[in-house]
Amino acid sequence: MRNETCQIFVDLSAWRNAVAVASKQLEVETGGILLGCRHSTDIYVSEFVEVPDRASTRSSYVRREADAAELLESRIGAHPEGSLNGYVGEWHTHPERQGPSRTDRSQIKKISKHSCDEVALIVVVYDPYASQWKPAGYCARSGRARRAAIKVQATDDPPTGGAKPERPK
Ligand SMILES: [Zn+2]
Repeated sequence: MRNETCQIFVDLSAWRNAVAVASKQLEVETGGILLGCRHSTDIYVSEFVEVPDRASTRSSYVRREADAAELLESRIGAHPEGSLNGYVGEWHTHPERQGPSRTDRSQIKKISKHSCDEVALIVVVYDPYASQWKPAGYCARSGRARRAAIKVQATDDPPTGGAKPERPK
């Protein structure tokens, strides 16, 4: 059992999209919701859906509940009943070189109290020295958050029900 960390696997093309969205808005934070699926304690992210916040600043992003619900409905509603793909968490950018904040952590803990499943928070952090964006974040469940190990990987075949996917070496 892994109690201390959880793993978040991010689809490479989804990550590239998130980076493209983040790079267009270097002056302010942006973010939204994560779509994907879960396998036991692991979370697979297949899409970063942006939920724009017009009031966001360089150090603040608020994910608007009504907008998120509407976007989620339009995305998930389009999937067939019983589809494994759904809401798996939250994301936002940090254009400043700064990892997830205490506020970020307490917010995902709060959100996890209303979800019966594990939820992820991915912060897309800009590192000006490396000139690239890097993921950092948490998994939370029942009000408890754990640091997540986030892996970006090319997955042409997202895992489906049944067999457990192979772990990358
Ligand atoms: Zn933050």
